[in-house]
Amino acid sequence: MKTIGLIGGMSWESSREYYRIINETVREKLGDPHSCKTILYSVDFAEIETLQHRGEWQTLTDRMIAIAKTLEHAGAELLVICTNTMHAMADDIQKNINVPIVHIVDTVAEEIIKRNLHTVGLLGTRFTMEHDFYKGRLKEIYGIDVLIPEKPERDIVHTIIYKELIAGIVNEDSREKFKAIMGKLHEVGAGGVILGCTEIPLLIKEEDCVLPVFDTTMLHARKAVELALESGPAI
Ligand code: GLU
Repeated sequence: MKTIGLIGGMSWESSREYYRIINETVREKLGDPHSCKTILYSVDFAEIETLQHRGEWQTLTDRMIAIAKTLEHAGAELLVICTNTMHAMADDIQKNINVPIVHIVDTVAEEIIKRNLHTVGLLGTRFTMEHDFYKGRLKEIYGIDVLIPEKPERDIVHTIIYKELIAGIVNEDSREKFKAIMGKLHEVGAGGVILGCTEIPLLIKEEDCVLPVFDTTMLHARKAVELALESGPAI
């Protein structure tokens, strides 16, 4: 089994989901008392959030590269960035390390293709929905078209993520808002919805949407385990 390096704390509410899913998946695949070899580097999210909202992406990139190098030197054999948003600099990080990053966009694309879908909706932070690193990769590499909500709805999604989900607050009212936004994405042609923020699955489950939903936390964590176990016997 390879050792997975987790870049977490963005937020820790979702990192603990990664930790749980990764270990449950190893248990499911190898049986008790197996668990996953992991090294977690967890940040102070207040610093990250401030830099994101100031648009200081180069500073964030430099920090992420430093963290990735630390994990590599500590013995991580593959890296998982436990947030969609911070895949904005995944290519830059990859260029600076010698172990592979399990890219969240590639992971979700694989599932979208399995479902034979060509157009999907994307919910996430404003950065994930509006910048090109996510939609662009889905389109350019996989030919998947991505629909995002209108601006006022994007603001609602962004605010619920940063003001509630990251603080561990799961609010029924917010769930209804998400449902309405997903309904609109359906109306304009989405065949599925990417829960493209690792905290959204705390609020939205499959039964909350008539369309297939792509839970990036679950898919990403399970993909990491699949790759970690690829290399041979467990012991
Ligand atoms: N966990 C979130 C994501 O998947 C948002 C936090 C962040 O900005 O990294 O995008």
